[in-house]
Amino acid sequence: MTDDTWGQVCNELQKAVGQNNYTTWIAPLELIDLEDGIASFQAPTKFMCDWVSRNFAEPILSELRRAGVSAERVNISVPSRRPMNGTANGATRPTVPAPAPAAPVAKPRKTPRPDEPLPGAPLDSRFTFDSFVVGKPNELAHAAAKRVAEGGPVTFNPLFLYGGVGLGKTHLMHAIAHDLQHQRPDLRVLYLSAEQFMYRFVQALREKQIMDFKEMFRSIDVLMVDDVQFIAGKDSTQEEFFHTFNALVDQGKQIVISADRAPGEIKDLEERIKSRLSCGLVVDLHPTDYELRLGILQTKTEAYKSEYPDLKIAPGVLEFVAHRITSNVRILEGALTRLFAYGSLIGREITMDLAQECLKDQLRQSERKVTVEEIQRKVAEHYNVRLSDLVGPKRLRAIARPRQVAMFLAKSLTTRSLPDIGRRFGGRDHTTIMHGIRKIEELRGTDSQLAEDIELLRRLLES
Ligand code: ADP
Ligand code: MG
Repeated sequence: MTDDTWGQVCNELQKAVGQNNYTTWIAPLELIDLEDGIASFQAPTKFMCDWVSRNFAEPILSELRRAGVSAERVNISVPSRRPMNGTANGATRPTVPAPAPAAPVAKPRKTPRPDEPLPGAPLDSRFTFDSFVVGKPNELAHAAAKRVAEGGPVTFNPLFLYGGVGLGKTHLMHAIAHDLQHQRPDLRVLYLSAEQFMYRFVQALREKQIMDFKEMFRSIDVLMVDDVQFIAGKDSTQEEFFHTFNALVDQGKQIVISADRAPGEIKDLEERIKSRLSCGLVVDLHPTDYELRLGILQTKTEAYKSEYPDLKIAPGVLEFVAHRITSNVRILEGALTRLFAYGSLIGREITMDLAQECLKDQLRQSERKVTVEEIQRKVAEHYNVRLSDLVGPKRLRAIARPRQVAMFLAKSLTTRSLPDIGRRFGGRDHTTIMHGIRKIEELRGTDSQLAEDIELLRRLLES
């Protein structure tokens, strides 16, 4: 295969997996060779290698084939540090990690560590990796958090986690801190909210202890700042945060940041900070899907049952809740707690009827009043296509994809049936609608641009 062909394949991949995924995962790959139907690539780190192998081998293969390259398998490895007689891809399974960055792992400290506790926020003992349920929407965030929790050499800095409220950002950060406390008690780990960061900073200014403040923050090995969007528009806090951030990164210390949106989208945050925040691994926690919600409900019910073995829930109740309460995990947990309390109060099995009765307020809140027509209008606007095209017969991708997005939103935001939705899409058959919905569900997992579009539209429509 020529470089040209690979270049073309890359162009196609960019479209197939979305710009974000492409830049983060595909662009850094180096094509090594293509022999016996095996396309071999090298990735810069073991983490990337694992992630790409698991999630992008399929799209890479299919785009290769579409470009006429006969490939049966994709093999991704990490460059071996010892040269192996000129061939770099000797190993089928990557075993040698990427060269560690400048800072060695266990560097002896120059000065004895101060005994005073770090002024962080208390950790919630329930927020552990064990209690975190992994699904498609949070898989990458979880994997990256796990990686940081090992406390090994820094592979990406910062780790930037973002997503809507109640999707598990704080949970993951606490989980990292818990794990590090056990596995690497030698490391100084500090978790705090951006608000607390500001509070400390202002207090230090007031008490003329800014040198102590700086020294303390620069002595940390792993710094985690939650809800960083809070410092937007607060100029001197931003400035100090930026210096702290840079000082730690320069020393090869790990930083984990969370926010409610991507770095580039935080208003009133300085450009240079945005760009520093984007230069590590930026991962979004997608809105929950049905499987994840059900997984969370089941896990929490099991945990609850082990304490209260008398609790009985009729089959189908958890599925019902997972279907109907879709906003975020915090609200889902609230609903479940309410169910348990209700169940223990009446001392009977929680049936579907009882669940409906007990959760009627929560269910009403998540009941959607949005119409299919409104969805179509907003989607057409967002993708800049004509409304008449969106419901019309044209099959161009530039129209067909937005149409499928609209179908998907119509199904998930309204209570309309598939045939009913079909009628509102120019009299299409319900199987066409179903196909469109499936397609979007499938793409959403790999195409983060699409996932973002959908989330944005959903928020617009529900507001
Ligand atoms: P965020 O910081 O993103 O607003 P949190 O981390 O505070 O959200 O999560 C809200 C609640 O939902 C917490 O009680 C948390 O334990 C729970 N939660 C979120 N995601 C998960 C998950 N994947 N598995 C189990 N619990 C979760
Ligand atoms: Mg939070």
